Amino acid sequence: MRDDTRHWIEADQTHCWHPFTRQSEWCARSHQPVVIVRGEGCWLYDSEGNRYFDGNSSIWTNLHGHAHPAINAAISHQLEKFAHTSFLGFTHPGAVELAERLCAFFPPHTLERVFFSDNGSTAIECALKMAVQYRQQTGQAQRNGFIAFANGYHGDTLGAASLGGVGRFFDRFRGMGFPVQQASSMADLENFPPEILSNVAGVVIEPVIQGVNEMRPWPTGMLAELRAWCDSKGLHLILDEVMTGFGRTGSMFACQQENVIPDFLCLAKGITGGYLPLAATLTTGKIYDAFLGTADRAFYYGHSYTANPLGCAAALASLDLFETEKTLEKLPAKISHLEKLLTGLQTRQPLVHEIRQAGFVAGISLRRPDGEPFPPGERFGESICQAARAHGLLTRPILDTIVLMPPLSATTGELDHAIRALDAALSEQNPTGL
Ligand SMILES: *Cc1c(COP(=O)(O)O)cnc(C)c1O
Repeated sequence: MRDDTRHWIEADQTHCWHPFTRQSEWCARSHQPVVIVRGEGCWLYDSEGNRYFDGNSSIWTNLHGHAHPAINAAISHQLEKFAHTSFLGFTHPGAVELAERLCAFFPPHTLERVFFSDNGSTAIECALKMAVQYRQQTGQAQRNGFIAFANGYHGDTLGAASLGGVGRFFDRFRGMGFPVQQASSMADLENFPPEILSNVAGVVIEPVIQGVNEMRPWPTGMLAELRAWCDSKGLHLILDEVMTGFGRTGSMFACQQENVIPDFLCLAKGITGGYLPLAATLTTGKIYDAFLGTADRAFYYGHSYTANPLGCAAALASLDLFETEKTLEKLPAKISHLEKLLTGLQTRQPLVHEIRQAGFVAGISLRRPDGEPFPPGERFGESICQAARAHGLLTRPILDTIVLMPPLSATTGELDHAIRALDAALSEQNPTGL
C-alpha cells in the first residue's frame, strides 16, 4: 500500500463518520476502504492505481460520466463569476434559466413553480410542508398527514423520514414526524375509511420503481391509477423522482411513462449530472397561489445554499448534454443490451434468483440455489460486491440485491465489463452450507 493511501485510511478511521455505516467494522484494521482519487467517464480510480466501473453511478447520482469536459467547463465558467450568493432577496441567471427549463418538460399551466433546495430529503421536506401549509390556507387544516408506501424511502431528514417504510432505518424515530399511513398497493388505498382520508393531505410515492426497496418496480399502469384515485379523493400526488428523474428509467421523468403529472415533483440526485448537491420541488400554480397575500401565508423555509449557482450551472450543462449527446435517444438500445446481459447472468449463475429492471436501473436478487433467502447475518450481497471490486466493478447491495445502475453514458462494452465482473464474483463465492 502506498504511504499516502495508508495515511488517508488511518486519518479517515480516526476522524470520519460515514453514512449508513457500521463504524466498528469500517475502522477495523483489516478493513481497507477504497480511496477514490479520480474519475473519468464511467470509471473511478483509487489511490493505488486501480480502476473501477461506477456500477451504481456514485450512489445513483451520475448521468454523463465523471469529469465530463462540458460540465466541468460550465462549473468553472460560473466559478469565475461567483460561487455563491443568496437566493433570499436576490436572484441569478442560472437558477432562473434552470427553473424555466425544468417547467418546460411539462405542459403549460401544470408544474410551473420551482422551489430549490439542496438534496433529495429537503426536496421532499419542502413538498410535505407546502402540502400541509396549502391545506391550512385553504380551510382544511385537519389534512396534515400523508399516505406513503411500505418499504418506501424518501430521505433522512425528520419529515422525509416519517414517510419511510424501511423499518431498520426509521423505526426508532417513529412518531416524531408527520402522521403517516402506510399502504402497499392500490387495493390498500381503497380500504382506507373516509375518516382517515379526511386527515390526509397527499400521497407520496417513488413512481415506476422503488429504489431502496431492493429495486422493486410497480405494476405498469399503477401510477395512472393512483393519479385518478388521488383526484377522486381530493388528495395531492407527490412524486419522489429523486432516483428515477433525469432518464434513469428510460424517459426524462418516470411519470411521463404513464402520462401522469403530479401536484409536487421532487428532484435531486441526477439533477446536476451527479456533480453538486442541488434539489428542486416543482409544483402547480394552484398550490402556489394559496401562498400569496399576507405575510403569514408566505412559505418560511429555505437553506443557505438554496439555488447554488455552481449547482445550477452543472444542471444546465447536464440538460444540454441530454440534447448534444442524444442521451435519451441512445438509451433504448443500451437498456435492451443490459436486459440481455442480465438474463444471461441469471441463466449462468444459480445464485441469481430474480432480475428486477426498470430502464437503466436493475436489481439482481441473490438467493440460495434452492430458492431460500440467505440468512441475513451472512451479508452475502455485500460479499459479492466486495468480490466484484477485485474485477473492476464498484457497487453496493441493498440486503442481498446487487444494484446495477450505470451512468446513462455507459457504453454496451462497459455494460459487458460490469456483467463480467459480477459473473466472476458470483463464480468465486461459495456461500457457507452449500
Ligand atoms: C436518495 C433518495 C432520497 C434522498 O435524497 P438525498 O439527496 O440522499 O437526501 C429520497 N428519495 C429517493 C427515492 C432517493 O432515492
